[in-house]
Amino acid sequence: MISQSRRQFLKWAAASGLISLSACSGLSKTAAPAQVVVIGGGFGGATVAKYIRLLDNSIKVILIEPKAKYITCPASNWLFAGMVGLQDLSVDYQALTSQYGVQVVSSSVTSVDTTRRRVLLADQQSITYDRLIMAPGIDFHWDRLPGYNQELADKFPHAWQAGRQTRLLQQQLQAMPAGGLVVITVPADPYRCPPGPYERASMIACWLKQHNPRAKLIILDAKTSFSKQKLFEAGWAKYFGYGSANSLIEWHALTDNPIIGLDAKTATLETYFGDKFQAQVLNIIPPQQAGLIARQTELTDAGGWCPVAPQSGLSTFQDNIHIIGDAANYAPIPKSAFAANSEAKVCALAVVSLLNQQPLPEAQWLNTCYSLVTPEHGISVAGVYQLSTERKIAAVPSAGGVSALNGISNQPQLEANYAKSVYRSLVADSFA
Ligand SMILES: Cc1cc2nc3c(=O)[nH]c(=O)nc-3n(C[C@H](O)[C@H](O)[C@H](O)COP(=O)(O)OP(=O)(O)OC[C@H]3O[C@@H](n4cnc5c(N)ncnc54)[C@H](O)[C@@H]3O)c2cc1C
Repeated sequence: MISQSRRQFLKWAAASGLISLSACSGLSKTAAPAQVVVIGGGFGGATVAKYIRLLDNSIKVILIEPKAKYITCPASNWLFAGMVGLQDLSVDYQALTSQYGVQVVSSSVTSVDTTRRRVLLADQQSITYDRLIMAPGIDFHWDRLPGYNQELADKFPHAWQAGRQTRLLQQQLQAMPAGGLVVITVPADPYRCPPGPYERASMIACWLKQHNPRAKLIILDAKTSFSKQKLFEAGWAKYFGYGSANSLIEWHALTDNPIIGLDAKTATLETYFGDKFQAQVLNIIPPQQAGLIARQTELTDAGGWCPVAPQSGLSTFQDNIHIIGDAANYAPIPKSAFAANSEAKVCALAVVSLLNQQPLPEAQWLNTCYSLVTPEHGISVAGVYQLSTERKIAAVPSAGGVSALNGISNQPQLEANYAKSVYRSLVADSFA
């Protein structure tokens, strides 16, 4: 018997093009008891756990996540402009348990036995799976910058995993002497949230303009261009004098003159041609790779990310393991929470279909990423993706785009409002 809520969800999924009605009717026929284990309760893991249960509540879903409360990276940059506190960004897993029947286990997975199909937890417990979904997010390459290491993240916070690191960076900014220099280093692609460093620079600049107006912020970028660049630069020119001699923000593309070392004692970065940047607050965002458990399970390639068959999210290296979110390579879809949520829904449909011996539904993915230049000035990028005839992910032409540079006069204010409501609905869709 198909439940009312599941019937409604399937109708919605079919109407929104996520699945075809013929696939739905197939799903309801078989109800073999199956066990799915999900590693990681971020945007990817929470969404996939919820949506598998919505699609087929005969499947047992066990979500393993060490943190009782998850603090979202989306909106964490807003902290620097004083718009939110960490408590506003904190979600828990109660709704997943009480509303959807997901079993949440508060622990970490230390290893995966792919032969016996079981995961081993930090407390030595083991849990078997029919299908395993990995969503462990990112880890950092700590060894790419001479003079820098993991311990130094307490001195030069990355704040690229929200929580303690975000608060640390905020405290350093607030304690910075008048007229100090903030330096943000940005890695080469791919990394989590391509526009994130530039939104961060904007939010910090808003705060400095009000509380430390003689201070300066320099972005040292390993790339020659960046996401929503024209929109950010237009906003920076409007609010922070960007492009003038007195600009609060400077952006330096260091592709030909990379950073070659850090003197941790003096907080000084040195480039290949000998330029030196001594910062009072140094926000080093290291290059990234898939989370440790994905690497230990040998799901990653030489680039450090997990290749997948996009329609199912199945690992190309291991049977019965799906990977979603930042850890996986769904390029050209960027690594974002919105994308992780979208990948999770496609994966949920695939897992339910496979467990019910149904064909895989056609897949489509969405990404939308809003950034704030000031609390009242928003900009956005959106994309729709599907499989090409070569079965590779490709952007659907004309289905996305970025905000107009010279749109209607109240567009930035509207987009700032949308940024806040998109954040709320994305969190609700993933965790509530
Ligand atoms: C500053 C900043 C701003 C951002 N802003 C936006 C935005 O506006 N919009 C947007 O869409 N995206 C944004 N992002 C990107 C977004 O945060 C990520 O893309 C998203 O969190 C990816 O989700 P995920 O589930 O893959 O990983 P995560 O959210 O990192 O979740 C991974 C989870 O796995 C758990 N885990 C790891 N290893 C194990 C293990 N061995 N056992 C059990 N659990 C484990 C971790 O504890 C963690 O909770 C931003 C990112 C940053 C840094």
